[in-house]
Amino acid sequence: MNKVIYLDNAATTKTAPEVVEAMLPYFTEYYGNPSSVYSFASGNKEKINEQRERIAEMLGAAPNEIYFTAGGSESDNWALKATAEAYAEKGKHIITTKIEHHAILHTGEYLQKRGYEVTYLDVDENGLVKLDELEAAIRPDTILISVMFANNEIGTIEPIKEIGAIAKKHGLLFHTDAVQAFGQVPIDVNECQIDMLSASGHKLNGPKGIGFLYIRKGVKIRSFIHGGAQERKRRAGTENVPGIIGLGTAAARAAATMEERAKKEIEMRDYLISRVLDEIPYTKLNGHPEKRLPNNANFSFRFIEGESLLIRLDMAGICGSSGSACTSGSLDPSHVLMAIGLPHEIAHGSLRLTLNEEITREEIDYVVEQLKTIVSDLRNMSPLYEDFMKKQEK
Ligand SMILES: *Cc1c(COP(=O)(O)O)cnc(C)c1O
Repeated sequence: MNKVIYLDNAATTKTAPEVVEAMLPYFTEYYGNPSSVYSFASGNKEKINEQRERIAEMLGAAPNEIYFTAGGSESDNWALKATAEAYAEKGKHIITTKIEHHAILHTGEYLQKRGYEVTYLDVDENGLVKLDELEAAIRPDTILISVMFANNEIGTIEPIKEIGAIAKKHGLLFHTDAVQAFGQVPIDVNECQIDMLSASGHKLNGPKGIGFLYIRKGVKIRSFIHGGAQERKRRAGTENVPGIIGLGTAAARAAATMEERAKKEIEMRDYLISRVLDEIPYTKLNGHPEKRLPNNANFSFRFIEGESLLIRLDMAGICGSSGSACTSGSLDPSHVLMAIGLPHEIAHGSLRLTLNEEITREEIDYVVEQLKTIVSDLRNMSPLYEDFMKKQEK
């Protein structure tokens, strides 16, 4: 097989051809600055607002509650830092989890250095937040709860509706990092009582460098980028018009194909999971068995180094990940795998495969056959495995 089998869709996705096509005229033809008064440019403002409408409709939000940003990381930073500042008089305590993306975790650390207190909740062995522990962590000075909609490494979908209800019961703001969930699973900000939600274009077949933050009307949150009056004076900077068109088009495409795509991906994901678990011994699935993203499979192979596995898979034309892209290059196992209680040596042998709707059964078969060979080869070179097998024989 000389075609690349791309199974790293949680890291980024291919920009859909119809998305690129929708964007192109906004580079070369309709390149005017949306703030300009002449009609040549001002039409772009309407086009931007159409994208806001498309996104708002998917979430059950109002179009003027959608603020375009430069991606998921910016949206997460904005949600945390600006709320912390705006609500500092009420209190300086924030609750989040140990399995968040670094855009949340490192922002939490930044705030801790500036006088805020942050509680990082544990999760259970499947990666679910424990609701009783969440409620017990709430204090009189708590201002915000931030829990991701779905985890980027192990795919676990959190009990967002229940968390939203707890936040409301205690009069707290609720932010969710929905970068992995938006476009993959249905989200209703009212049903889940979400006040702020982050999403990113390149995780749903849109372009990179564009995303949005949903901010519920009435939430006191300040501007993050100061300058012009764009985005209702809350996020300055000339709009990334092609990016916004691309994001809106990708969102609409994701909404239209969601059901069918999820069905196909779940079928392929479950086929992959059952073959790997049945045919490769000493292997475990990470993340919740049912409450997981349609396209996510995450395994731990005992007696294996994830990095070696990735290199061998690459030689076979298969793109996977051993954690999140940001953590590779570091020797520490992923913070998410640590949080679900995996011992170091097992966490090190982990592999995340995230599918797209184009994957075929033949490709999965090829991946499984390659995995069987590679895992067996690597184990045969492992002294740990040798010891283990000797003990088994006794
Ligand atoms: C990718 C990702 C981000 C960061 O989004 P960017 O657009 O790449 O900045 C944040 N949170 C989660 C859960 C992600 O998967």
